[in-house]
Amino acid sequence: TPNSWESRADSYSLYGFTDLPSIHERGAVIVTHGKGPYVYDVHGRSYLDGNSGLWNMVAGFDHPGLAEAAKAQYDRFPGYHAFFGRMSDQTVMLSEKLVEVSPFDRGRVFYTNSGSEANDTMVKMLWFLAGAEGHPQRRKIITRINSYHGVTAVSASMTGKPYNSVFGLPLPGFIHVGCPHYWRFGKDGESEAQFTERMARELEATIITEGPDTIAGFFAEPVMGAGGVIPPSAGYFQAVQKVLKKYGIPLIADEVICGFGRTGNTWGCQTYDFVPDAIISSKNITAGYFPMGAVILGPDLADRLQDASEAIEEFPHGFTASGHPVGCAVALKAIDVVMNEGLAENVRTLTPHFEAGLARLAENPNIGEWRGKGLMGALEAVKDKATKTPFDGKLSVSERIANTCTDHGLICRPLGQAIVLCPPFICTKDHLDEMFDKLEKALKKVFAEVA
Ligand code: PLP
Repeated sequence: TPNSWESRADSYSLYGFTDLPSIHERGAVIVTHGKGPYVYDVHGRSYLDGNSGLWNMVAGFDHPGLAEAAKAQYDRFPGYHAFFGRMSDQTVMLSEKLVEVSPFDRGRVFYTNSGSEANDTMVKMLWFLAGAEGHPQRRKIITRINSYHGVTAVSASMTGKPYNSVFGLPLPGFIHVGCPHYWRFGKDGESEAQFTERMARELEATIITEGPDTIAGFFAEPVMGAGGVIPPSAGYFQAVQKVLKKYGIPLIADEVICGFGRTGNTWGCQTYDFVPDAIISSKNITAGYFPMGAVILGPDLADRLQDASEAIEEFPHGFTASGHPVGCAVALKAIDVVMNEGLAENVRTLTPHFEAGLARLAENPNIGEWRGKGLMGALEAVKDKATKTPFDGKLSVSERIANTCTDHGLICRPLGQAIVLCPPFICTKDHLDEMFDKLEKALKKVFAEVA
């Protein structure tokens, strides 16, 4: 109908990352409010959000404490910046908290409004250090194929997805090495340990070919998120960090999804037992209740950035809303809620149930693999399980499965040929069962149609 919310959305707004044929087939969903892990559309229909919004609404959609923290701070002091030696008291407290909960014994924090900007900021810090420390050629950034680091010109260049070619990206000097997905990229007869060794060897070969002194940093998500939930092969970060250390290249953990509990620990790097040189955070840092990103520098980079800034007199970078007091107040509350009110604990409690549900659905002959860590998981749709052959066709099978789930009141996300689940931390076992039951019905329906 011409005046429906859906058609008004289609007429006046632009969606991000939207497969328009798929949306035209099924129609948009315009949401008005939420309760726990559910969102409600303009027609009053409810949807269990199996993706926590965009991985971030970990405390659900109606957490009273978070809204109260925002309201109290709006009443107290509604906005300020962090330029020219000024910042709000909330910003001071949040930086202390972030360093305290980080894997670093010392550190410093710089704020942005998003994860993309936090990655941009980190790259600019590395470029700034290169110039200030007398290595102006040290500008190249290494990331991995299938990684996702954001959408600004720099963070999209870091992102290892072919879709950015429509923008003429990546920019020069952004290099992508292999994706540590053993099931998909392991060679015939290659063990997982051999695969990991090959990933490290290929990284070293790239560093040598490019010139070790031209490389500013290596960025990696502990578990790749938007690449389709890809946990690293066993021992990956230990093998990679050994190579990076040999050439003095910083390892930056992009913890935008993994940070604050998603993989069962505060940080994904703790789950995989490595200490990076810096952490990129966003999303869960405010449980999605305020846009915020943060660069958390470990001791070495923090000291070097401070020295370089003093030598040059300033670090000429920052956003109007960097360290916004309302965002900082919300983040302080969100960190408390996730870490001290049982949400991170609930991730650990629910993980076996979540994994069992994924494993059960993976018995379907058209699911090639289930994978995941903590409360992030994926099921990979395949035409042929034995040969791992993907489905073909314009409207991908995963897209059709997600559309069918939406019809049945479940939001889940198609990423490549995978269906991704990333439920809020406040979920119960019953919520997970509802999610898996709805997904199972959709899998059966769509696979019967395409078989
Ligand atoms: N890094 C990772 C690992 C992400 O998953 C995302 C977003 O999904 C980003 C960076 C970009 O964050 P934003 O969308 O807030 O710019």
